[in-house]
Amino acid sequence: MPEDKSHWCCINKECKKMNSIDESIVKLAEERKKPLLMPCGYCGYVYQFVERDTEKSGDWLKCLPFKGMEKRLPVGDDGVGNYKDSLNKIWSVEGYINEYGVDPEKYLKWVRARKPKSKQTCP
Ligand SMILES: [Zn+2]
Repeated sequence: MPEDKSHWCCINKECKKMNSIDESIVKLAEERKKPLLMPCGYCGYVYQFVERDTEKSGDWLKCLPFKGMEKRLPVGDDGVGNYKDSLNKIWSVEGYINEYGVDPEKYLKWVRARKPKSKQTCP
């Protein structure tokens, strides 16, 4: 693995994509002690970087999943950038990510593609 990338696993059990992020971005977040939001490039689940996982060898990041697993998934969109949650509330992409920790655009694309498996998955 190249040294300038850190890796993390998508915890969406149907996805499990191995994602990578530039090490420089992680270092900057560590220095500033600011939370770092990282969307899965495949299914759109968004994680908050917490700390490095020293138990796994290598450069894995520990991530904190957002609360509420099932109710957070979007049920549809209006085609112009608004997304509906399971309570019929309408959100923008940014609003949805802040509330539920899922990028609704990426997630719906992934669902409509019948949840394809990533070629790079974690064990
Ligand atoms: Zn994912």
